[in-house]
Amino acid sequence: MKKIYFALGVDCESTQPAVNNPSLGEKAIRGIAEVINKNNGRCTFFVIPGDIKQHKHIYTEIEKQGHEIGLHIHPETQGYKQYCGIYGPEEQEKIISEASDIFSQAFCRKPTAFSMGYTSTNDYTYPVLVKLGFTHGTCSIPGRILPECAAIWAGAPLFIHYAHPYNRCLEGNLDFVEIPITVDWESRIWSGKNPQDLRVELVDAKNHSYTIEKSIKRQIEEQIQVKVIRPLTHNTFEFDDPGNFRRQTLEGIICSFNNICDKLSITGKITTCFEVSKKFREIKSI
Ligand SMILES: [Zn+2]
Repeated sequence: MKKIYFALGVDCESTQPAVNNPSLGEKAIRGIAEVINKNNGRCTFFVIPGDIKQHKHIYTEIEKQGHEIGLHIHPETQGYKQYCGIYGPEEQEKIISEASDIFSQAFCRKPTAFSMGYTSTNDYTYPVLVKLGFTHGTCSIPGRILPECAAIWAGAPLFIHYAHPYNRCLEGNLDFVEIPITVDWESRIWSGKNPQDLRVELVDAKNHSYTIEKSIKRQIEEQIQVKVIRPLTHNTFEFDDPGNFRRQTLEGIICSFNNICDKLSITGKITTCFEVSKKFREIKSI
């Protein structure tokens, strides 16, 4: 039986200035973990340094439940300019290693999972991540063209792959497993700058179900060895409230994923980015 993974990533940034609501952040983390646990799954929380300091105890708790904790970066929250993709390699290394040190102090281990704020990167980013010990995560939304955020991913690979050492939009042999956000590659939103992606808060569950089904069918047709649906959300909504629309959307997305898997006779598993990257490494060596 074919298999597909559902790897939700939660970018945790409730302490960033535009939000500045750590109590909402805490409620969101607990609510998301509850929804995923109820579905016998696991997911990955990517956390900025400010949120690590605030919510260290919760992350330690949910990590014990099997969820994964990784690092998320928004340079402006560390006193730099907003977008990582405008910086050269030395500066990126400084920004990411400062954040990584805060993670290491809190959890007594170095982070290995990474997601980049706004997916703002350039061709220096992946080699910097590898140098700092990161092994997997998400830097890309394939088809995104947002030069104002230094986030250009036109034509980038749709599915899981090893990053390229010199060109972020190509598959390569760098020791970093990129798990791109799932998108509908034929759609455009935001005046044509972004494809419709699987961000929970973008549309409702029914709308997301079309993207999920389209992506699964394509991965089956192309015989992609490690098939992945990679949704995302943020810890900035009241996911702890059963009546909250975003929570209901997340529940609806999971329900759609399970139903589509049944319909297409494929086994679905809700799990962490780590498990997905591990499976990919087992099947495909560099
Ligand atoms: Zn973010």
